[in-house]
Amino acid sequence: MFAPPTRAEGLARLARFVPRAGSAYAASRNEDRGPRDRANVSTLSPWVRHRLVSEREVLAAVLAEHGLAEAETFVQEVLWRTYWKGWLEQRPAIWERYRTRLEADLRALDADLSLRRRVEEATAGRTGISGFDDWARELVETGYLHNHARMWFSSIWIFTLRLPWVLGADFFLRHLLDGDPASNTLSWRWTAGLQTPGKTYLARADNIARFTKGRFAPEGLSRNAEPLSEPPPPAPAGVPPADRPRAVEAALLVTEEDMTPEHWDIGPVRPKAVLVGHATAARSPLPPSGPVLAFVEGAAADAAARAAEHFGVPAHAVSLAPQALGDAARALRVGTLVTGWAPVGPAARALARAEASLADAGVALLRLRRSLDERAWPHATRGFFAFRKAIPDLLAQEGLVPPDAPARTAR
Ligand SMILES: Cc1cc2nc3c(=O)[nH]c(=O)nc-3n(C[C@H](O)[C@H](O)[C@H](O)COP(=O)(O)OP(=O)(O)OC[C@H]3O[C@@H](n4cnc5c(N)ncnc54)[C@H](O)[C@@H]3O)c2cc1C
Repeated sequence: MFAPPTRAEGLARLARFVPRAGSAYAASRNEDRGPRDRANVSTLSPWVRHRLVSEREVLAAVLAEHGLAEAETFVQEVLWRTYWKGWLEQRPAIWERYRTRLEADLRALDADLSLRRRVEEATAGRTGISGFDDWARELVETGYLHNHARMWFSSIWIFTLRLPWVLGADFFLRHLLDGDPASNTLSWRWTAGLQTPGKTYLARADNIARFTKGRFAPEGLSRNAEPLSEPPPPAPAGVPPADRPRAVEAALLVTEEDMTPEHWDIGPVRPKAVLVGHATAARSPLPPSGPVLAFVEGAAADAAARAAEHFGVPAHAVSLAPQALGDAARALRVGTLVTGWAPVGPAARALARAEASLADAGVALLRLRRSLDERAWPHATRGFFAFRKAIPDLLAQEGLVPPDAPARTAR
């Protein structure tokens, strides 16, 4: 269902979905009709997550067809992704906190065999809870869950099964084709009451029955959702500055965070080669699923072929390990690698680790940021509803709507 992992397929899905992105989406997006009927949502997230198709392209296509007032719900959903990215970018400590906690919780499974058994039952879909078990299996088999199912699943995991939230978030991240450090971690935190202090998400049987069209009627769900607690997040530290392209001969370094290098604003950079690598295996201390690895490998091959043709230079697969990047730059005789900005997560960590050894080898690493992120991320300091107010102006600055485009709620 989620193949092939190519830009052409992402664009074809976008074209098919655009007519449904207006009022039809707003009216029906919350329905989880099951894996055989996803017509009410776009299913674009695996392509957008790897930027085989960019958020801006999705917004441009939808706004051209419907305008902002008609497509506002869909536009806001796309920009939730941008918001989560900008929020985490300004608080990288929250991702580090998650990773530290995950390692501790995975170790705890070795000591607590009863907890291990309960986690295994939940991830194998053997709890006996209608819906929950089906979503666990659907996730493993397809690499995708509807947004509402993700909300119900995370809530039942935390408040009914009383399992550690980071182990649930890790199960998602290892199996979702769109698995994303910001959207996933912060959505699980939101369900748990850690993201919006005191506000949790409680999955209710009647809501599940209604929005799954009666497919599921779970019994025994928790009737309350006491927020989990942890120290408050640090104050936003501002968005780290991106680099400006310079007039140098360089290799373009493509990672899983932005696989359309032909759209990077490289200015005067003269590409000599393209290097494509990813850090998907580092999503978790445990291995990611086969479908996740197959998707990103396929996407990498697609990016390499497109970039080679677009820039008229050779493309090579590369490891993001520090030594390997330096060796690749030396072999190509370039003193600069130019890459699309990798937001907080495994690719950013791999690049940060590589930077010192690249510097030792006399190789500079330039990180370029897309203009939508550059404009939007600084607004992600508080909750989404504060961010939402900036949306019409952001879209106008991007040239996606006229300056005074009417919106229903955003202003
Ligand atoms: C617990 C939980 C975990 C999640 N983990 C991820 C994740 O790892 N990666 C991920 O991309 N999304 C995640 N989401 C957000 C959302 O569920 C998916 O983006 C969406 O379901 C993807 O399906 P779609 O492309 O058909 O969405 P559509 O409804 O068609 O939306 C269009 C696009 O908007 C973006 N989007 C929509 N809803 C959200 C949202 N709530 N948050 C962020 N972006 C959104 C996606 O890029 C999506 O492709 C999570 C949500 C929850 C509740």
